[in-house]
Amino acid sequence: MEEDLSIELSVLESHLESMLGRAKKNSVTLQRFQAFEIRLHNLDSLAGMIEHILEDAKQAFDLDVISLCLIDEKADIAKFLDDDAYAHASRDGLILLQNKDLLQAIFGHNCRPFLGPYDKSFYAGFFAHNQTKPASVAITPLTRRGRFLGALNLGSYQADRFDDKMATDFVEHLSSVVSICLENNFNFEEMRRISYIDTLTGVNNRRFLEQRISEELDRCQRNGDPLSCLFFDIDFFKSVNDKYGHQGGDMVLANVAGAIKTQLRNNDVLARYGGEEFVALLSSINESQSLDIAERIRKTIQDLPIQINDSAVSVTISIGSSTYAPAVMSSAEGNEIAAQLLEVADTALYKAKHHGRNCVVNGGVIKPNPKLTVLPKTASG
Ligand code: GH3
Ligand code: MG
Ligand code: MG
Repeated sequence: MEEDLSIELSVLESHLESMLGRAKKNSVTLQRFQAFEIRLHNLDSLAGMIEHILEDAKQAFDLDVISLCLIDEKADIAKFLDDDAYAHASRDGLILLQNKDLLQAIFGHNCRPFLGPYDKSFYAGFFAHNQTKPASVAITPLTRRGRFLGALNLGSYQADRFDDKMATDFVEHLSSVVSICLENNFNFEEMRRISYIDTLTGVNNRRFLEQRISEELDRCQRNGDPLSCLFFDIDFFKSVNDKYGHQGGDMVLANVAGAIKTQLRNNDVLARYGGEEFVALLSSINESQSLDIAERIRKTIQDLPIQINDSAVSVTISIGSSTYAPAVMSSAEGNEIAAQLLEVADTALYKAKHHGRNCVVNGGVIKPNPKLTVLPKTASG
C-alpha cells in the first residue's frame, strides 16, 4: 500500500515536473515573442524589417530555416530596397514574387496557415536557399484586408515540430503582426517616396536633392572621393510650350528627364530643380569624368526623338559642371560646399547659354573659402 502510494507520488511528481518544464518553455517563448514584436513595431525601414524577420525570428523561435515571400507586382518593394542600397536579390530567404498566383495556389481562398511535413512539390521554392531541407514546416499567409502581401515560411529539421494537429494560434498571431507591420512600412515607404519624387518626370525633386547633397558630401569627405554636379537647362523650352502647348511641354520634360537618367548610374541623384532645370550629383566622379558624362548626356538629348501627337520634336540642353575635391577643403563647411557646388555649376550653365546653348561649360573644381578652410595637418603636425 505504502509502496503504491509512493509510486503514484513519483508519477505525479514527474507529471508536475514536465508541466512546469512546458510552462517555463512557453513563458520563455512568450517573452522572446514579445521582444521580437516590440522590435518589429519600432523598425522604420523595410530593409530593417526584412532583416529582423529573417535573422531575429529564426533565433527567437528556434527555427532551422526561414523565408519571407513578398508580392511585388509593380516592383515597388525592389525599388524601396534599392534606394536603401539593400542587396535584396542576393539575400537568402527573401523572395519577391511578381504576382500572387503561387500563394493563391497554395493557400486557396481560406488563407489558413499550413503546418505539417515538408513537401517539396509545394514548398521547394520557399527553401531553395537552404541545402538541408526542413522536415516540417509552417507556411503562413501574410494578408491585410483580404489582400495577399506574401508568406512567412518557418522550417524545422525536427519532423514533429510542426504538424497539422497543432494549434495554429501562435503562427497566426505572428503572421498577423508581421502583416500589419509590413503594410505600415509599405505605406510609410510609399509616402516617403512620393514626398521626394517629382510626379511629372519621375525623378527626384529639389527637396530630395537638398537632403542628399550633404549626405553625399559627408560620404566623399570620409572616403576622400570627389563629387561632381551637373546643372541642366532645356534650351528654348518656352518655344516648345508655345508650339505644342503645356501638355506637349510636359511630355518633353518627362522624356528629357528619362533620357538623362539612362546615362547615370543607379546611385547617382537626378533631381528636377525647377521648371525645365535638372541637377545631377555624380558621386566619386572627378572633373574630367564629369565633363565626359555631361557631353554624353548633351549628345543623347540632341539625338533624342520625342513624339508629341503626330510631330517628332527634338530639343537640346545646356549644361554646367562643377566638382568638389575633398583634399582641398575641410569637413567644417558642409552647407557652404553644397551651396558652392550648385552655384558654380549654375554659373557655368549660364555661360553655356551665352556661348550659344547646346554645350557644356566647366565651372571647375570649387575653391576653398579661405576664411573657413582648415588646412590638413602635415606629418610634422
Ligand atoms: P533658355 O534657352 O534661355 O533656357 O530659354 P527657355 O525658353 O528654356 O527659358 P525660359 O526661362 O524663358 O522658359 C522656361 C519655360 O519653362 C517657361 C515656363 O512656362 C516653362 N515651364 C516651367 N515649368 C513647366 C512645366 O512644368 N511644364 C511645362 N510644360 N512648362 C514649364
Ligand atoms: Mg530655365
Ligand atoms: Mg531653358
